[in-house]
Amino acid sequence: MERTLTILKPDCVRKQLIGAVIDKIERAGFRIVAMKKTKLTTEAAGAFYAVHRERPFYGELVEFMSSGPCVPMILEKENAVEDFRKLIGATDPAEAEEGTVRKLYADSKGENIVHGSDSDENAQIESSFFFSTEEAVNVNN
Ligand code: ADP
Repeated sequence: MERTLTILKPDCVRKQLIGAVIDKIERAGFRIVAMKKTKLTTEAAGAFYAVHRERPFYGELVEFMSSGPCVPMILEKENAVEDFRKLIGATDPAEAEEGTVRKLYADSKGENIVHGSDSDENAQIESSFFFSTEEAVNVNN
């Protein structure tokens, strides 16, 4: 079993799509290990996306990610990192495949509904950004 970290971003929460996106996630065979609703400060959003700090869209990204509540989750499935990125589709919804979460629900490259870790290592780092070791214990049956 592998784990990945997702965030249902502030646009997902504002559009009342939390349930719709979780439905897609569960139907694709992911189990939710941990989940919370929280609001990132600009400092926390900046730290989470620190890898992008030199990119031109960094300021906009930090502002967006701290603009309202979001829903981070740790998900578990075989091949979770790769399969989740397939499920959500390309960063830019205009380039995302039909049926993917971003194609269905995202408005733009910036406001694209959902985050998904891009490697096992980052899944671990990002999971510990939001959840304690106790919260990340697998409570699935
Ligand atoms: P992904 O989330 O698909 O892994 P990246 O790691 O490249 O994509 O970028 C992280 C996030 O930064 C994206 O999900 C998106 O919200 C934002 N972003 C990326 N590129 C742009 C851009 N050109 N303009 C605005 N926001 C962007």
